[in-house]
Amino acid sequence: MKILVTGGAGFIGSEYVRNVLGGVYGDVDTTVTVLDKLTYSGNVANLDVIRDDPRLTFVQGDICDLDLVHDVMPGHDAVVHFAAETHVDRAVHQPAAFVQTNVVGTQVLLEAAHRHGVGRFVHVSTDEVYGSIEQGSWTEDWPLAPRSAYSAAKAGSDLLALAYHTTYGLDVVVTRCSNNYGHHQFPEKVIPLFVTNLLDGGTVPLYGDGLNIRDWLHVSDHCQGINLVLAKGRPGQVYHIGGGTELTNRELTERLLTATGRDWSAVTYVADRQGHDRRYSLSIEKIRAELGYEPAVSLADGLARTVAWYRDNRAWWEPLKARAGLS
Ligand code: NAD
Repeated sequence: MKILVTGGAGFIGSEYVRNVLGGVYGDVDTTVTVLDKLTYSGNVANLDVIRDDPRLTFVQGDICDLDLVHDVMPGHDAVVHFAAETHVDRAVHQPAAFVQTNVVGTQVLLEAAHRHGVGRFVHVSTDEVYGSIEQGSWTEDWPLAPRSAYSAAKAGSDLLALAYHTTYGLDVVVTRCSNNYGHHQFPEKVIPLFVTNLLDGGTVPLYGDGLNIRDWLHVSDHCQGINLVLAKGRPGQVYHIGGGTELTNRELTERLLTATGRDWSAVTYVADRQGHDRRYSLSIEKIRAELGYEPAVSLADGLARTVAWYRDNRAWWEPLKARAGLS
């Protein structure tokens, strides 16, 4: 099988590519083309352990570049599409970039996949497309009600992907996932930002009252879910991938303080994010029942491993934080 992985130098995409080529999902004959623009969050160092693997081809380029995408696409059996602008805080200030990559880029890929007869297109999306939910959990048929430029652009790309299935019969499957954490996550996102600040003896900024709730999922479980969907998902369907571990941001902060040996004096309360969604909650019954998905990494174990990785890999994150002016 030959897979085109967009955004394969980012946090989740690189985990997926390392796992595919590392034989984690069993098929050692799979070859992978990574198409990645290497924006501020893309990092070829994330692929270091497989850099010399002859089954890997790396193409630096933009998914919005029609000519490039039509050059790269032919010959692939499947596309796993991760590439996106992903940071909600950035979407508040630069929404146009989110529409360009997440909506226009996705349409360029779908069109090329359709024209070049690609077998399957896995579109990786997010629970944020549903907006915010006070009680209960979203099912896959829940109405979309995105509330940020990030989630609105992702919702638009989900609908385009499903439209290519309806209109042209393209074998599209959409995944919607909860908040990921783990190694190699760009240190602007809450867990790596907090962990690295705390390891450095600094403070961490907690939004609003700290009571916003997120479901946390280890990145390896997300990628395992994507692999199941690629292999066995039904065409035209949406599948949730979640961890079943909801925490308020205060509870998450408490765990990170404990893991790094710090206390609440390291926490600064800051003004809430504009339009901050209160709670995300996904039902994962469909992927469990149909594809046998089950998250394998407990939050306690996953967080301990994540903190240890950032402690041991300063050379990876220190330059990124310095370049992005993060503290
Ligand atoms: P990331 O920001 O770490 O990586 C994004 C990658 O896409 C980077 O390598 C970047 O260089 C590349 N990219 C950006 N714009 C591009 C373009 N125009 N052309 C080619 N490459 C481009 O993001 P991530 O956290 O790994 O997220 C990957 C996907 O998973 C996204 O689609 C995101 O919406 C989805 N997702 C993420 C989470 C999460 O918690 N991180 C949760 C649910 C869904």
